[in-house]
Amino acid sequence: MRAHAAAALGNERVRTNIRRALDGLVVKRRAAFPDGDELAHLQEQGRAIRAHALSQLPELLEELERNCIANGIQVHWAETCDDANGIILDILRRKDARMLIKGKSMVSEELGVNAYLEGHEIEVVETDLGELIVQLAGERPFHIIAPAIHKDRRNIAELFKARFPDIPYSEDAEELTAVARCLLRERFRGAIAGLTGVNFAVAETGTLALVENEGNGRMCTTAPDVHIAVTGIEKVVARLDQLPPLLTLLTRSATGQPITTYVNMISSPRREDELDGPNEMHLILLDNGRSRIFADPELSATLHCIRCGACMNHCPVYTRLGGHAYGTVYPGPIGSILEPQIQGLDAVGELVDASSLCGACAEVCPVGIPIPGLLNRLRAEGVRAEPGSKVRGRGSRRRSKHALIWWLWVWFHADPDRYGLMSGLLARLRFLLPRRFSSWTRTRVFPRPAPKNLHRLAQEEGFADE
Ligand code: SF4
Repeated sequence: MRAHAAAALGNERVRTNIRRALDGLVVKRRAAFPDGDELAHLQEQGRAIRAHALSQLPELLEELERNCIANGIQVHWAETCDDANGIILDILRRKDARMLIKGKSMVSEELGVNAYLEGHEIEVVETDLGELIVQLAGERPFHIIAPAIHKDRRNIAELFKARFPDIPYSEDAEELTAVARCLLRERFRGAIAGLTGVNFAVAETGTLALVENEGNGRMCTTAPDVHIAVTGIEKVVARLDQLPPLLTLLTRSATGQPITTYVNMISSPRREDELDGPNEMHLILLDNGRSRIFADPELSATLHCIRCGACMNHCPVYTRLGGHAYGTVYPGPIGSILEPQIQGLDAVGELVDASSLCGACAEVCPVGIPIPGLLNRLRAEGVRAEPGSKVRGRGSRRRSKHALIWWLWVWFHADPDRYGLMSGLLARLRFLLPRRFSSWTRTRVFPRPAPKNLHRLAQEEGFADE
């Protein structure tokens, strides 16, 4: 992550683009919640709905499966990304589909489905404009709701010109969008299969809710013969009447919109009396470590996330570095708690340190996930392999040098005489202490002990015994 972060900090153009775009999202979100009491009420409602769903996760998933099957949706369970990719490939092969059109889906990014299918000679076409831009650029999404937020119009114009040399160069947003629309129309027309994510899956009705602004999600779910929806198991909610508060929290927190342009509620493949829709529909429920997270009473709050991206827009680390610096599918504060639990602290444990713990993320989170608290828990898990803990890679970040330093720190502070002796000694020797101390002091000043410790000052003022 350090190398990625250094590269991100050196890219002035990207930093300017993201700062401008994210500041805009922050302003829109603030305007969307003018009433603090209403926001607090909605947040509490959102938190309660997500907590309720998670408290009954196994039962709700079974209910969802039953109702989806009754509606004609084929349900698949995928324990790992490989399982999910294999299921998708099987469906496409059975339908002899050589191309897949895709709506925006972070779970599909988690699967790495594009690379997987392309490795099996199936072309994948991203149909969300931002996703299409990052696909053409050979990059991964920069932000979970705005994948190409780091690119300005000139970047996109240059990219389109490089990829489609026959079109005239233009930096006009409408003309660039028209190019994408033209390109995608043809693909929608010829597609046999479409893949999308799911924002919420309603157990009581077997309904998949999918919000979007461009209409490409509706095209992916209705134009092809087969619709494959893929989602993490945590996206289930119990009842249909729980959707309105979640949707209003999601769209207002994400883009400041009261509602998205399209709210798709999909409950079945095409019925006999319907004019459009797929003839075959599949729902893939992905675990990929979520059951392990669910089993931990504290860390399971991670699964409450509704992927609005507000924590990123308000994070002082994300707003300076951007999404690519994290090196993971989910960046920002939510990524810093989710990715180490999915991939393991031994693989991406550095992420839990990529936070100042300022608390901005928890303040704006529409479902009240206590991100700083969970970061602290994961920091502790990284250095202590607690019995009973199921966190992947626990204890892997323990370094004997650090353990010794903390052991000494505790030893000195546990006894007043030892503490007095040490602080007195440090005060006397303070000019001999190094000004630089490992990479920590590259961006910080090494603290120098005061000439007199607090106890000595209190004694001089007559507040403490000799
Ligand atoms: S953690 Fe909260 S603020 Fe961040 S994406 Fe998830 S729901 Fe949104």
